[in-house]
Amino acid sequence: METIQSNGYNIYFEDSLTQLVKFIEQGKYSRSFVLTDENTSVHCLPLLQQYLGEDGNYDLIEINAGEESKNIDFCVGVWKMLIDFGADRKALMINLGGGVITDLGGFVASTYKRGIDFVQIPTTLLSQVDASVGGKTGVDLDSIKNIIGTFTQPKAVFMAAEFFKTLPDRQILSGLAEMLKHGLICDAAYWDKLKTSDLSLPSLELVHRSVEIKNEVVTEDPHEHGIRKALNFGHTIGHAVETYSMLHDSDPLTHGEAIAVGMVCEAWLSNKKAGLSDAELAEIVEVFGKLYPKHKIADDSYPALFTLMQKDKKNQGNKINCTLLTRIGQFSIDNICTEDELCDSLRYYTT
Ligand code: NAD
Ligand code: ZN
Repeated sequence: METIQSNGYNIYFEDSLTQLVKFIEQGKYSRSFVLTDENTSVHCLPLLQQYLGEDGNYDLIEINAGEESKNIDFCVGVWKMLIDFGADRKALMINLGGGVITDLGGFVASTYKRGIDFVQIPTTLLSQVDASVGGKTGVDLDSIKNIIGTFTQPKAVFMAAEFFKTLPDRQILSGLAEMLKHGLICDAAYWDKLKTSDLSLPSLELVHRSVEIKNEVVTEDPHEHGIRKALNFGHTIGHAVETYSMLHDSDPLTHGEAIAVGMVCEAWLSNKKAGLSDAELAEIVEVFGKLYPKHKIADDSYPALFTLMQKDKKNQGNKINCTLLTRIGQFSIDNICTEDELCDSLRYYTT
């Protein structure tokens, strides 16, 4: 599997942790700092230690697991620890974890002493195929996701399938939604391959193709002015469903589970407005129906969902902009959808 070149850095797949050791040696760093959360300390750090050595070669900074940690208070904690450890401008941050760790760690590193080098070792499927590629770092403020952040590229990304072994099934499904999206927007052959693969533990080859697709899109449009909107397929409705679930459900949907709902709805909109055929719509519904449990969306939640869509940062004014499919493997951006159309798509999903 070839190394993928992104905006000035490499994404390693083969023997990636050996590549990490080489990278650190060549970088002549003053000190390495490994950022983990309480789960990746247990499940992922031991593998990293086999390469870095157990002690003396780096300092460890651990934060609580989960989105609740992705805020400025935890950044302050990490900045203070870097100061206490005496981290200087030639320090290296190694972010070992899911999207929370790669987003927060990237943000902390991009601002500490006006920016120190950082590398990503994404340990969830979602963070491998999505969060660690594209150079977006950041944290949440109050309940607004990713509102504070920077566009800063890591110095390298290291992928390894070993980390998936300890991931709960729902975390696998969460990342899988983004992989299916990559097929739907850009590569019908990849979509077909995903349909026929064992997806309970996706192979690194499948991850590689997803990263290639995301990377092609973001390197063409690093600051989200145009084609990067392709990646929003399923996300206009999906984000609203995700936020609503976070506010109302005792066991909220993961990002990918919500996006899976969004993709079914937006596939229906694609069929109505963008040329996706009936057969393709039926195929998409079948694939998602087999993989994801049905999520209940009550009729009386539609107005709140629509308000959430209006608040989405992708929209200008009152128009709701959706990225849709003209066929499987081809997207179309900036499709304006009305409240009625969006509610009908939710109704379609529900029935
Ligand atoms: P996460 O980092 O919270 O990880 C999910 C859970 O899995 C956590 O409890 C974590 O401790 C645990 N975990 C991680 N690796 C593990 C492993 N190998 N074995 C067992 N448990 C493990 O969440 P996530 O789903 O990876 O990422 C979601 C975050 O990513 C969100 O904050 C989202 O905003 C962000 N994101 C960012 C981008 C971007 O472009 N920067 C893109 C997509 C998502
Ligand atoms: Zn997403």
